[in-house]
Amino acid sequence: MAVYGGIDAGGTSFRCVAGTGPDAILAEVAFPTTTPGETLARAAAFFSDGPGAGATRIGIGCFGPVALSRADPAYGHILETPKPGWAGADVAGTLARATGKPVALDTDVNAAARGERRWGAGQGLDDVCYITVGTGIGAGIVTGGRTIQGVLHPEAGHIRVPRHPHDLDYPGCCPFHGDCVEGLASAAALFDRWKLPPDSLPDDHPAWDIEAHYLAHLAATLVLITATARVILGGGVMARAGLVEAVNIKTVSLLAGYGSSALRPQAPLVVAPGLRLRAGVLGALALAIETA
Ligand code: ZN
Repeated sequence: MAVYGGIDAGGTSFRCVAGTGPDAILAEVAFPTTTPGETLARAAAFFSDGPGAGATRIGIGCFGPVALSRADPAYGHILETPKPGWAGADVAGTLARATGKPVALDTDVNAAARGERRWGAGQGLDDVCYITVGTGIGAGIVTGGRTIQGVLHPEAGHIRVPRHPHDLDYPGCCPFHGDCVEGLASAAALFDRWKLPPDSLPDDHPAWDIEAHYLAHLAATLVLITATARVILGGGVMARAGLVEAVNIKTVSLLAGYGSSALRPQAPLVVAPGLRLRAGVLGALALAIETA
């Protein structure tokens, strides 16, 4: 049986695996994201003459913004990013040349959506959205079994939604939009607003009802635009007990019965990732497997 490779290429760390699925990982390594030269060389070494050398094709779930269209001369490159040294870095090309293997590229959240559909909370569904709530907020969208890329890729975390009635004063922290969902509900926004790391906010803090409000508006928007069967909510902030359930209740309430006849027997609509923290790297592996 062929072995495949997956790279969860994150802005903070890279994780590489070789294998055929969640229960058949043959080799794995993780290391911090430093300079593009050093980081991509470590990933390439894992797959060329390291423990992942048996992989025949490599899927990359990459932080962004990244050029995904093969018609784009910048295909495979990181675009404008505040991450020092990474603007213009040729992620896909460097890894393809250094390993001599075919590579498939998608965003980190699209890869996670793909992984959840193949092995996690979206199994059996052709239409799945995956939202990550961490330092930023991103959404991957699988529709009809394919991820949406568009001329760049979806950036649903930057949608604006109605303000929570008890959160009218905080201006938001998105450098582009101020009070988009990312600017109001990311870990960075929680820290900026409450002056405490999200982990340190108690369960009964008003922050969590506000958080659920914004994430439910984002989830409901994705349901209405993509007619998705399931919204999967991952990322560090979602580790808070009860938050996924609170978002589900608010999302269903916001939809107010709209489309409920099509709403799937497999309720709930909003769930935690079946692959937990491994959705990203396993999604990259799924990308390698599913890319012919
Ligand atoms: Zn924004």
